[in-house]
Amino acid sequence: MKALVLTERRTVSLVDHPKPAATAPDDVVVRVVQTGICGTDRSVLVGKFPAEPGVVMGHEAVGTVEEAGAAVTAHKPGDRVVINPTLYCGSCPPCLRGHWDFCANKAGTEVGLDLDGAFAEFIRLPERFVHAVPEGMDFDRAVGVEPLACALNNVEAGRLRAGETAVIVGGGPVGVVCAMAAHYYGARVLLTEPDPYRQELCREVFAGDFGGRVTVRPPDDPDLAGRGDVVIDTVGNLLEQSMAYAATRGRVVVMGYNSKASATVRPLEILQRGLQIIGAGDYNSRLFPRAIELARWLPLERLVTHRFPLERHEEAFAALAAAPGSPYSALKVVLVPE
Ligand SMILES: [Zn+2]
Ligand SMILES: [Zn+2]
Repeated sequence: MKALVLTERRTVSLVDHPKPAATAPDDVVVRVVQTGICGTDRSVLVGKFPAEPGVVMGHEAVGTVEEAGAAVTAHKPGDRVVINPTLYCGSCPPCLRGHWDFCANKAGTEVGLDLDGAFAEFIRLPERFVHAVPEGMDFDRAVGVEPLACALNNVEAGRLRAGETAVIVGGGPVGVVCAMAAHYYGARVLLTEPDPYRQELCREVFAGDFGGRVTVRPPDDPDLAGRGDVVIDTVGNLLEQSMAYAATRGRVVVMGYNSKASATVRPLEILQRGLQIIGAGDYNSRLFPRAIELARWLPLERLVTHRFPLERHEEAFAALAAAPGSPYSALKVVLVPE
């Protein structure tokens, strides 16, 4: 089968790769319909996120069941499915306490990082990481379920309540999904984004049916200071700025993964303003079915701005990497194994 693998030089290369088979009784092989490119995938290519050379990349996938192992009961060939890529072992001490998201045996099980992922024609996973797509939900919406699970994890970590104000820092796909989720939770949402072109993309997403309760702002808008009951930094290196956006007793959630970022904070400010700085980790797999349910109500398909076949992966990644000064043209880019 065709697959995009990570090379030693941190590029991706289209290769002929062995097609996975359902060798274990609980294996499900999924024929991939499309896979979103995640910020993580880009971070791998620019050296900000670890991954094993030779691995098939990609983890935000939807498709149809191709083959099911003998013990699989939840799925049969032809079923429309979305994959939950956050594998856990179920038997280590954190897993036994239900903290599957902090599984101690992650090595070798990170889909698209050290376990073969979904920038390919097929992907194999244990049954419990394959979920049915609800009837009537199209694949363009379902491909947003995995980013939505990430967003939901962070919105809930911030304990956002109806009637509060959420400041979402960063107008990329994750920021937009966070803003949709926060809006659904009943918050007024201020979404900050420096790039004028991306601001426009965000405004188009939230035009009309969001009732004007999600507004897109430049990061230096003075109206943002002290506004957020919950502030979510989806970029990962804007903690100082996020703290300035936080209201008294605000909760600042660090979300964007950035292994190079550091920040200088004044402990007294945290104390005097009653701030809470929160890290939510990866989402617990328990959240995934809830993200599927929430996706029924959110127009996640509006995020998909670009679609490329695997062969055109260079254009696909280029669409996401706006050079300084040049406009972003993409929110979510998906790869299709035609
Ligand atoms: Zn992702
Ligand atoms: Zn475990």
